[in-house]
Amino acid sequence: MSRPVAVVTGGTRGIGAAVAELLADRGHDLVLGYRSRDAEAAALAARLSERGVEARTVRADVADDADVARLFAVADELGPLTALVNNAGILETQRSMVEIDTARWARVFAVNVFGAAACSRAAVRRMSTASGAAGGAIVNLSSRAAQLGSPHEYVDYAASKAALDTMTRGLALEVAGYGIRVNAVRPGIIDTDIHAAGGDPGRVARLGTGQPMGRPGSAVEVAEAVVWLLSPAASYVTGTVLDVSGGR
Ligand code: NAP
Repeated sequence: MSRPVAVVTGGTRGIGAAVAELLADRGHDLVLGYRSRDAEAAALAARLSERGVEARTVRADVADDADVARLFAVADELGPLTALVNNAGILETQRSMVEIDTARWARVFAVNVFGAAACSRAAVRRMSTASGAAGGAIVNLSSRAAQLGSPHEYVDYAASKAALDTMTRGLALEVAGYGIRVNAVRPGIIDTDIHAAGGDPGRVARLGTGQPMGRPGSAVEVAEAVVWLLSPAASYVTGTVLDVSGGR
């Protein structure tokens, strides 16, 4: 029997890499998209291949439809697609909303929302029982920011994640009858490099201990929820958003 095949966007670092490691442990072949860091992608693929699964990395910007097509073409080489994790996400330098211009709103939405929509389209076409496939599961990486609004940090990012929550619900209802489950995870403060991209590398250390559980979360703690939502153990779960935020 062929192994399940999962596409993880932004699957080479942070939360996406943790998801990839857990899926490899559970016998999935993997296609891991990333934006630019070739060396990190190659190192992870080498580690995963030692576990007896196929792990391919594809430099593919989810905001570019042609890149998305290439990403899924690689997945097609491995076999029928069973899982998609829309994990690629960006934020920009912390500032108040009045200082965020339209070009920045467009950049953030292009990756966090339009990219996830493009990948979801590609996945649904491959998974739907309406086209003779066996079904599958999609998990979107949202954020607690969707509900907190991220004032004076990144309202644009927070709004993009709220859009992702709505897309999760809408798509889940559209494809529930076609063997595809769609869910989202909303992480809180998680220890990855994304905070440095917002110009605040000390954010996790500064805010982590102020969380209800007294610490930040790890990428693996988020990945465990993602992998559960993808698994048959979550077979009656769709259209839902799961907070993984230590109570935040
Ligand atoms: P991260 O450490 O910054 O890693 C981001 C990954 O996404 C990298 O593999 C990166 O590729 C890739 N990527 C970035 N832009 C891309 C694009 N346009 N196309 C394709 N791939 C792209 O991020 P993370 O902290 O693990 O976050 C993962 C997801 O969780 C994001 O959606 C984020 O919004 C969400 N989240 C994170 C936190 C947190 O506290 N960390 C909290 C809530 C939600 P390169 O390596 O090539 O740059």
